[in-house]
Amino acid sequence: MVTSPTVDATSYDDLVEDSPTATPKHGTSIQAGWGAAADKLSTKNSEYPNDFKFDSTPQLVRFLEDGPFAVYQQHWIEREGKKSFVCLEDECALCAIVGDKPRGRFAFNILVLSGEEKTVQILTAPPTLARMLRTANEDERRGPLTKHFWAISREGTGPQTTFNLERVRATDLAEEWDMDVEAVEPLVASAVKYDASTVYITPKEELTTIARSLI
Ligand SMILES: [Zn+2]
Repeated sequence: MVTSPTVDATSYDDLVEDSPTATPKHGTSIQAGWGAAADKLSTKNSEYPNDFKFDSTPQLVRFLEDGPFAVYQQHWIEREGKKSFVCLEDECALCAIVGDKPRGRFAFNILVLSGEEKTVQILTAPPTLARMLRTANEDERRGPLTKHFWAISREGTGPQTTFNLERVRATDLAEEWDMDVEAVEPLVASAVKYDASTVYITPKEELTTIARSLI
């Protein structure tokens, strides 16, 4: 009798709490190890310390680029464990077998300035927020995104979710956010950005197995 291994490399991914706005992560043991270390070191109680968590209270952020570093379609499947999967388009079993409709996701590098730790995080925007960000970026008065600071908040859940995006001028940082712009600029200059390799793409075979288990 062949026994299956007690530890399945893909199962680590399944143990991690998923959310509709979480950026998919690589599931290799090395990255999982660093992720676990970062989680231990972080004062925030989060499995993914680099994922920006929206809140109804506005948070002050600085965009590190004028556009998203990754744009993709994402499936959200109600199941045990991992729920979000990057769509494989023509080769996607979740489209072909399950008939699920993926939604656009737009990942931005931001420096989060509210809170004690000023860290680079990934803001994963749904199409509604991505449209607001594009409009703001192209607006001569407010844009481009990297020029000013932004206060971002989210209200509601599911289809009732609304985002609020407010420009904050550098000259208003001290008065409105009790923050010294001189102290912020070096953080912006030295920020290390994420790239598209951060977005985990589930192998085709694995996605097919998952799709078949759903029907
Ligand atoms: Zn798909």
